[in-house]
Order: sequence, then structure tokens, then C-alpha cells
Amino acid sequence: MSEESKQSINWLVIVVFAIFHLGALAAFFMFTWQALIAAVVLYWIAGSLGIGMGYHRLLTHRGYKTPKAVEYFLSVCGTLALEGGPANWVVTHRIHHRYSDRDGDPHSPRDGGWWSHMGWILVGRAQEHPESVLWRYAPDLMRDRFQMQLNQLYVWPVALLGLGLYGLGGWPFVTWGLCLRVVLGLHATWLVNSATHMWGSRRFATRDDSRNNWWVAWLTFGEGWHNNHHAHPVSARHGLAWYEIDMNWWGIRTLQWLGLAEGVRQVRLKDSIPPTANLVETQENLLAEAP
Ligand SMILES: [Zn+2]
Ligand SMILES: [Zn+2]
Repeated sequence: MSEESKQSINWLVIVVFAIFHLGALAAFFMFTWQALIAAVVLYWIAGSLGIGMGYHRLLTHRGYKTPKAVEYFLSVCGTLALEGGPANWVVTHRIHHRYSDRDGDPHSPRDGGWWSHMGWILVGRAQEHPESVLWRYAPDLMRDRFQMQLNQLYVWPVALLGLGLYGLGGWPFVTWGLCLRVVLGLHATWLVNSATHMWGSRRFATRDDSRNNWWVAWLTFGEGWHNNHHAHPVSARHGLAWYEIDMNWWGIRTLQWLGLAEGVRQVRLKDSIPPTANLVETQENLLAEAP
């Protein structure tokens, strides 16, 4: 972990997460089939379109290109996961790739499993980056007015969604479509930081502890093939073998088929290059010039 991370408790985050966890518990006392369907659909919109395809594979690693309208749509979907604004998320994740499981990694299990799962969010300010750090790690997003606005105002889409859900189906829709769905999505994403750096198999001898973990992949639409990903970060495809189910990849292929994605980068198992060489090269690509 970095020095800045070892700071005071982040009470605002704790209170918000506590309310969402209580709302998630309340969901079980007001079950309806419609509310369950709303939660499943929103879990996919926020987790797959938003975080997996949007924040991670498009914005962070630029594994494919889309028209701006598509990029912005996926980014707004990402805000619905309540994991912060796009620029802050991207910077945290690019720092993770740069320092994976070494000093400076915001969430490595080498600092403790609990720390890597959610401790790093509840303590300190690892997700709030000063402008100099934003410029250093995400100049592409800093130059984009829409992305910077969304980075500031990322709670608005969630707030509007909450109001919409209440109007459509009352408290069952709010507790299922918002509270329980957000809590499950948060833990699923956090499992990528914790579980897939501890448990699973390693196809590539990366210099971090990343692993391929099938059950995290199932919860995150394919993000659990994390050793493949650390070995080949720019590849828009993470599940490399036929049995490595990667729904985010299917989503990107669908965009491509619709003419909404191009320049899709992918690694195929047979032509994968030595992982260490690729990591160095990719990190240089990620760290574009500061102004
Ligand atoms: Zn990782
Ligand atoms: Zn990544």
C-alpha cells in the first residue's frame, strides 16, 4: 500500500455503505418477481456494460475503440455501480497495474485479504486522486469535458435511478434494484482485487500474484480471468480458453458486430507473447505524457 493510503477512516463512505447493506437486508423482506428482474437487469447494466466493458476494458486499458456517444453511455452505466467517477476509477486501476502486489498497489492482499477487499476503501483516500495524479495517469480522460463532469457528478445518475425505481415499483424496487444490486456488485468487484490475487490458477508467470478464478469470473461477467488480464492488460478479451466464460467479451463483440466498436485488441492463447515483456510495454503505453 502507499503512504497516502494509511490514513483516517472514511466516515462518509462507511455510512453510505452501511445504509446500502441495511437496504440489501431489507430487500429479503419485500421480495417481488418484478423487483428481482429489475435487480438482475441493473446488475448486468452496471457490472457488465458499465464496469467491465466501460470503466475497465475501454476507459482504463483502451482495449477497443467506440464512438464517443457509446463511450459516454458505457461510462454512465459505470456510475450506476457506485464505484466512483470514471477518471478516479481508471487512475486507481492504472496504479494497481503499475505496482501490482508491490509497494504502491492500492489494494494488494499482501497487505491483508480484508484490506484488499474493502479496507482500502473504508480507510484513507485511495480513490480520491489529486489533480496532478489524475493528469499523470489519465490525461486522456482529463482532456475530455464530459468525462471530467461525470467524474465530479457521478452520484447523480444513481440518485435519479433511485427516484425512478421508487416511482416504478416503490420500496421493493429500491431495495432490490438499488441496495442489494449495488452491494452485490461492489463485493463482486472487490473480489477481483482480493480473491483473484489469492485463489485460483496461474497460466502466466506474471510478476504479481494474479490468478484465474472461475467463480469470480461468473460474478463479474468475465473479470475473474485476472491472471490472463495482468499478463495481457490491453486485450479486450480476458477469457482465453473456450471454457473461460467472458460475457464482457461477448458484449464487446456484439458492439463490434453492430458497428459500434473497432480496433478491438485480443490475445489468443496460441500467439501470446512472453508475459513479462508485454507487461513492461503495456505500462509504458498506459502512462501517457503529462502536460
Ligand atoms: Zn489485479
Ligand atoms: Zn485491468
